[in-house]
Amino acid sequence: MSNFVSSVMDGVKAKNPAEPEFHQAVQEVVESLEVVIERHPEYRTAKIIERIIEPERVIMFRVPWVDDQGEVQVNRGFRIEMNSSLGPYKGGLRFHPSVNLGILKFLAYEQVFKNSLTTLPMGGGKGGSDFDPKGKSDNEVMKFCQSFMTELCRHIGQFTDVPAGDIGVGGREIGFLFGQYKRIRNEFVGVLTGKGLNWGGSLIRPEATGYGAVYFAAEMLNTRNDTLEGKTCIVSGSGNVAQYATEKILDLGGKVVTVSDSGGFIYDEAGIDREKLAYIMDLKNVRRGRVNEYAEKYSSAVYTPADSNLDYNPLWDIKADCAFPSATQNEINGNDAANLLKNGVYVVSEGANMPSTPDATEQYIAKGILYGPGKAANAGGVAVSGLEMSQNSLRLSWTREEVDQRLQGIMKAIHKQAFEAAERFGTPGNYVNGANIAGFLKVADTMIDMGVV
Ligand code: NDP
Repeated sequence: MSNFVSSVMDGVKAKNPAEPEFHQAVQEVVESLEVVIERHPEYRTAKIIERIIEPERVIMFRVPWVDDQGEVQVNRGFRIEMNSSLGPYKGGLRFHPSVNLGILKFLAYEQVFKNSLTTLPMGGGKGGSDFDPKGKSDNEVMKFCQSFMTELCRHIGQFTDVPAGDIGVGGREIGFLFGQYKRIRNEFVGVLTGKGLNWGGSLIRPEATGYGAVYFAAEMLNTRNDTLEGKTCIVSGSGNVAQYATEKILDLGGKVVTVSDSGGFIYDEAGIDREKLAYIMDLKNVRRGRVNEYAEKYSSAVYTPADSNLDYNPLWDIKADCAFPSATQNEINGNDAANLLKNGVYVVSEGANMPSTPDATEQYIAKGILYGPGKAANAGGVAVSGLEMSQNSLRLSWTREEVDQRLQGIMKAIHKQAFEAAERFGTPGNYVNGANIAGFLKVADTMIDMGVV
């Protein structure tokens, strides 16, 4: 680690103890930026690095609610308002028992650079709760969402902070949250994205993150005159991102052989076709079941339960060309990356946020594979959220084709910015550096324009 990186990281660790995911996300960006700071001393003078790692505001609050048995439950709610240089804070809400301050700070930090790359006017934020929607009744989820929004509503607004979904927050949760916001504030505005189509949502928003990650992979392949046609793909997760990544891979002629959840994964050598994907969508979105049921229904599939005693995940040890990690952070460690590379995977496009550990990303880069980091590859979701905000302001709805075309245009633009920045700053083909640098430059220049605020 260079002196520059270690001095920044010493400060970050001292000020933000016990937040390893936040440290990891900051370190990756700071390593990419060293060359930028050398060429642009004005960023050092303006203390941009020190300012960009400090959230503008952190909100933490109690979320009390009553479960179906009449028992009082208490969760913790958060909203990290990280950076509003480019526009209102924008980023999802995560409901998962693992949620804590450090995880949300890492996600909010990543979001700043990601939103900058989309070319749309959005700052970065993230929020959520340690509430677990799994196993709760619809009534309990509604009670929780209403209590959560009762506090959150005083901190957000269409021109201030516009949350969306993330892990554990889909259309059902956004509906309950929006209903409570509307009731308390007595205003019908685009304060959340990922809304239902009847009440201000955008076509293609549910699909956008997964589709975008596949468009990004296609763009990377295009630099080598290659396509997804006939490629075998491994996908992790079976939620929103994984489902629509699978759909778009099928559209572009690829074959998907895996999906997973926290219980384990299925390997279907015959491939997940559209009928099987419809089964997964019903299983996960309507029946809220587990992926092992897929193997009971389709004999071509083998189910492997998750085993926390292993130092690798056998999901990443399956022969394939492309990988689309779409579950959660740090799901691919160094051993997994070695397995991916050994088996011939040469495209990794991250639907999830920071799914690869630093050890894994180092191996991808050393091997020179096409590696699209989350903040570039999964930016399609927030991009279409930005388009949802535009439609809400216009009080108009664009067609499916129009939104999809804009999404494709944005993913191309993100790819181009990352590709060109990597080249300009001396590491051609390194999309990690490219995305970090291109995302940073726009925010940094804007922060300088706006003075010390
Ligand atoms: P969902 O809640 O719809 O699905 C998450 C999936 O990942 C589920 O299959 C879940 O399994 C699995 N998963 C979650 N946590 C873990 C864990 N700790 N270990 C193993 N599996 C896990 O979320 P999304 O699809 O929306 O999000 C997936 C990833 O994509 C996240 O990293 C998110 O931040 C990122 N992302 C999402 C965007 C969006 O628009 N939704 C935008 C950009 C990024 P189980 O049901 O068993 O928990």
